[in-house]
Amino acid sequence: EAKKSLNFIEQIIEEDLKTTHKREELKFRFPPEPNGYLHIGHASSICLNFGLGEKYNAPVNLRFDDTNPMKEEQEYVDAIKTDVLWLGFKWAKECYASDYFQQLYDWAVEMIKNGDAYVDSQTSDEIAEQKGTPTQPGTESPYRNRSVEENLDLFEKMKNGDTPEKGHVLRAKIDMASSNMLMRDPVMYRCLHKEHHRTKGDWKIYPMYDWAHGESDFIERVSHSFCTLEFLPHRELYNWFVNKVSKPGEFTPKQREFARRNLSHTVVSKRKLAHLVEKGVVESWDDPRMPTISGLRRRGYTPQAIKNFADSIGVGKRENMIDVAHLEFCAREDLNKTAPRVMGVLDPVKLVITNYDEGKEEWLHAENNPEDESAGSREIPFSRELYIEREDFKESANRKFFRLTLGKEVRLKNAYIIKGEDVVKDAEGNITEIHCTYDPKSKSGSGTEESLRKVKGTLHWVSIKHALEAEIRLYDRLFYEEAPDGHKDKDFMEFINPESLKVITGYLEPSLKDATVLEKYQFQRIGYFCVDKRSSEEKLVMNKTVGLRDSWAK
Ligand code: ATP
Ligand code: MG
Ligand code: MG
Repeated sequence: EAKKSLNFIEQIIEEDLKTTHKREELKFRFPPEPNGYLHIGHASSICLNFGLGEKYNAPVNLRFDDTNPMKEEQEYVDAIKTDVLWLGFKWAKECYASDYFQQLYDWAVEMIKNGDAYVDSQTSDEIAEQKGTPTQPGTESPYRNRSVEENLDLFEKMKNGDTPEKGHVLRAKIDMASSNMLMRDPVMYRCLHKEHHRTKGDWKIYPMYDWAHGESDFIERVSHSFCTLEFLPHRELYNWFVNKVSKPGEFTPKQREFARRNLSHTVVSKRKLAHLVEKGVVESWDDPRMPTISGLRRRGYTPQAIKNFADSIGVGKRENMIDVAHLEFCAREDLNKTAPRVMGVLDPVKLVITNYDEGKEEWLHAENNPEDESAGSREIPFSRELYIEREDFKESANRKFFRLTLGKEVRLKNAYIIKGEDVVKDAEGNITEIHCTYDPKSKSGSGTEESLRKVKGTLHWVSIKHALEAEIRLYDRLFYEEAPDGHKDKDFMEFINPESLKVITGYLEPSLKDATVLEKYQFQRIGYFCVDKRSSEEKLVMNKTVGLRDSWAK
């Protein structure tokens, strides 16, 4: 295997292994907040952290960053676990920030005793007004020098819910003149009289992200805590807090940052995706138009396609937008290797083979995947009346049209060579039937001279009387704008593509009769399709994953 050059995250680790860390001390974590379903941006973080775990044979924890009961739910915890497992990763330990609430509280009490934290009884507006600006120091709170006793007393009351929700907060006592705004006495706890999905009514105060995250890393002995770039200014605070709770010389985690990945024609933010669900723009979090892992799964993406996507864009130091066409390319590339070929007609027109016996039918041999010999073969029925795609026929056409026209020959895939003879039209002039003749000696794979005859075009088809009717869901971009949330003066909801879903009836070869949910196929000459979870014995429902070619290429 060719040696890949190290990315900047790996370089950091390699350097640490030479200087400060032992190999067996390496430990990583993936820390989602259970306030929504994972999206394709999270896939980058998952592949980064679990990928490092595999590379260095180091444990990776799945840590739920569940410190805000206002937005978090068990449903999201379950969905996140399902998605990480589906991607093919195994965590060393399943951890919850909420499991550390008592430890965090005890540490906070210690900090109060050491004069490192105080209860502020101002409103959040007042606190915000005193923050100052990056060039102007902030103003110290009038409560900053409360006695330790009063702080301890108030903090305990806050914890027990004996103070009103908006009455007090606990703040770290750092430096109101710091050039880093986050160091200006950040809030550590706020009162929230809300049930938590795990700790239920035990706590009336909840820790803020900055106070919980580094401490959770420290408790779990995570060596490297990777987060996205917007947390770079938080690093100083992360270190300040870890320094307060650890003893000198103790093993401490380090935070490092990488660039968030954005995807074109969609939004990657749980809050915005939740909005799409709430407003009914999409059916659910796993709607196949969603950039969620569960949406992509339902759409027909494979874990490998998503991992290849994440690996191919890699980790970077600068935020950028990846064209969704690249994600689709990764799906196509993987499905091409793995998806069995079948025939289905989505916009049918009837084709009658006039010299084929009326009652006759035969079963023809068809290869399942030319890319994979082990995929085997199947039999497909052929008869006098078939469907072909409407766009595969023109009464007369120029030389570049390699499909069916009157007087010319094409091959029906896995079957015979046919020649267009005549058309039947309705009163409006629409073609209702195409009549053709076939060459009985030209059967594919029969080895006859006629079967080896070269004709310009090959069409897919289905036998009408054997065809399976299916609901086919065709998807388009959810947003017609490349960067729907990149506009200062416009809301992302203004860019929703009203035609992102089209439902049609398709006619499929009968081998799909027993297709099961999530099974993937290539409909030859059309694209990749996947059986939807709404499929039933009565009705097959299929989602179009992606076309065979990039139909969006300009
Ligand atoms: P969202 O705004 O969608 O809620 P988040 O960053 O708040 O995103 P978390 O649940 O906190 O979501 O994310 C868990 C991990 O995934 C974090 O380490 C976060 O930095 C990372 N992550 C989230 N979105 C992206 C993205 N678009 N690209 C890369 N990593 C991401
Ligand atoms: Mg977060
Ligand atoms: Mg978030």
